[in-house]
Amino acid sequence: MLKVFRQPDTAVTCQQVDENLEAYLDSALTTTQMSAFQTHINRCSSCQALLQQEQLQIRQLRCEAQLNQRTLSPVESAEIQQNLYRQMRRNIRWKI
Ligand SMILES: [Zn+2]
Repeated sequence: MLKVFRQPDTAVTCQQVDENLEAYLDSALTTTQMSAFQTHINRCSSCQALLQQEQLQIRQLRCEAQLNQRTLSPVESAEIQQNLYRQMRRNIRWKI
């Protein structure tokens, strides 16, 4: 893994990228957070790979959702809810 050059205010770690990737892709971050993210991703090849993987996954999920338009089972909707809560908790952990 590449070592990230540290900048006091805007430095983002690989862990933060990992934890907030969904928020980043949803454009749910602030402008400051977005640019900190982009700065990190531009420098870090492992996070670039991660981002590409996540984008691919999201595209696949959207395709599947379009193909299978049906009512969710209680288990499935509970899972989706849990994912949402996890995502919300991730977003709260931002400290920039
Ligand atoms: Zn990284």
